[in-house]
Amino acid sequence: MPENNFSKMRVFKFGGASVKDAQGVRRLAQIVQSQPLPLVVVVSAMGKTTNALERLVAEYWRHKNDYSDLFNQIKKYHFDIVKDLFESNHRVYVVLNELFTQLYNRLHQHPSMNYDYEYDQIVSFGELFSTIIVSEYLDKIGLPVSWLDVRNLIKTDNKFRDASVNWDLTLYKIHSTDFSEKQIYVTQGFIASNFNGQTTTLGREGSDFTGAILAWALGAESLTVWKDVSGIYNADPKLFSDAQKYERLSYQEAIELAFYGAKVIHPKTIKPLFDKKIPLFVRSFNNPDELGTLIADFEQGMEPRIPAIIVKPNQVLITLSYRNFNFITESSLQVIFTILEKFNFKINVMQRTALKLSLAVDYDPVETETLLNELQVYFQVKYNVGLTLYTFRHYDEQTIKKTIAGKRVYLHQQSRVMSFYLVKD
Ligand code: ADP
Ligand code: ASP
Ligand code: MG
Repeated sequence: MPENNFSKMRVFKFGGASVKDAQGVRRLAQIVQSQPLPLVVVVSAMGKTTNALERLVAEYWRHKNDYSDLFNQIKKYHFDIVKDLFESNHRVYVVLNELFTQLYNRLHQHPSMNYDYEYDQIVSFGELFSTIIVSEYLDKIGLPVSWLDVRNLIKTDNKFRDASVNWDLTLYKIHSTDFSEKQIYVTQGFIASNFNGQTTTLGREGSDFTGAILAWALGAESLTVWKDVSGIYNADPKLFSDAQKYERLSYQEAIELAFYGAKVIHPKTIKPLFDKKIPLFVRSFNNPDELGTLIADFEQGMEPRIPAIIVKPNQVLITLSYRNFNFITESSLQVIFTILEKFNFKINVMQRTALKLSLAVDYDPVETETLLNELQVYFQVKYNVGLTLYTFRHYDEQTIKKTIAGKRVYLHQQSRVMSFYLVKD
């Protein structure tokens, strides 16, 4: 085993928005340049690359003959960034070209029968492209950098597209890797590999989670995620101009906000950090001197103490009843939950009366219809699409009134801490 001293290790994670162009890569370099080493730097795919690769997989799967337009767009986007950052004889051109050839060859093989497998093999290229560019750039400006393939570090089961981490094996792999040098270790977010070495992914937006897995396994001093906002606010600052930043949040509060859909942090990120009491900083990529939000053990829960508003658009309200006037019983719920689980739907809010069960789930362009069809086998089904769920945590009446004013309420539910309004905007 190498002589690692993990306790001084810190992990940084940069999301797609941060590395969406050459300027972003330069700024990332400025941020890491001023840091004590060693440092692990987790990078997502650049800009909207993962969305573009998802479209490419869909075309490949449908055996569409010509996906060269999309492939070339993705290639050009990356090479434009490279041209801005490097002189034309730099080796990054060769390495990146090699990766694009691998992707091209894969797209010209027959797909297997497993869509999720094919998805992971193709979509994972986004993080390979971005980390090659970032690590070559850090090297070019004279920083001590090592590129690591995270698939040798994070091991998962075989559930492609939504793999579960094998924590013991991951710990073993990371502890067998030499992190002893005062280096910047650049590696990929979102991707991992199964026992057979096949590429898996951790679910969309999973790079925050990668940062947490690595911080956990390293027993790191801290994890910092650099975002295009300067911390966790009480509402999405892009939707609420008067949103206020939390200076501190407890792990529990952060997990609740993420769970109910505050998109700033992936919900799985917090638990590994909580388990080892590793602090999480959410900081501004654009204003690195600003204090962000600190998530740690914090008895007061949050500071300042202000209600949080979480907006989840694109909801479907499904109302189920029996055609013969029967009650909705616990066994009815069992049937409903089994069907929801089968199609991977998560209940965002739910209400039961004697004869009806109403629940809201995220709309999915393909799976919603399949879900409704299956429910129709057992129940009379009514549904409304295009709704928005407003979740208030530590609510007060004034915040709710101001936010919901003028909207038609389809469902409302309230506990002492949480208040939910499903509305038509
Ligand atoms: P990354 O680039 O790391 O993937 P994301 O785009 O996933 O970052 O997360 C940052 C975005 O989260 C912000 O641009 C912001 O619009 C959104 N967001 C949603 N809710 C919140 C919130 N409560 N506080 C801060 N940002 C939020
Ligand atoms: N690139 C992946 C995605 O867009 C992972 C991430 O950005 O966190 O979902
Ligand atoms: Mg994200």
